Amino acid sequence: MAAQETAAHAASQRRYYARHRDEINTKRSANKDWRRWLETRKLWKRTYRNKPRIHRQVYWAIQRGELVRPESCSHCHRTGCQIMGHHEDYSKPLSVIWLCQRCHLAVHRHEVIV
Ligand SMILES: [Zn+2]
Ligand SMILES: [Zn+2]
Repeated sequence: MAAQETAAHAASQRRYYARHRDEINTKRSANKDWRRWLETRKLWKRTYRNKPRIHRQVYWAIQRGELVRPESCSHCHRTGCQIMGHHEDYSKPLSVIWLCQRCHLAVHRHEVIV
């Protein structure tokens, strides 16, 4: 009788799955998204942990004249806007790409590659 019960149980599980398949799949993929989000966040933390220090280094490099903040965005060449230093690689604090806010945001949204 135990075997019968198990079979019945398995069948009811299958029925449950068939009925709620979409729901279950949505939950599963939401879970995956969550995991991915956590991974991204971990990576982000690792990458940006040194950010304040790096920005200080950039600031002092500008003060010393080692870095020059240009007047225009190096992507769209717009002037008269705030130009920000963008880092492709935070391990190279003085390798800065100068971008206007619009291009900078686009770069971070991966719409533009500099
Ligand atoms: Zn720009
Ligand atoms: Zn940036």
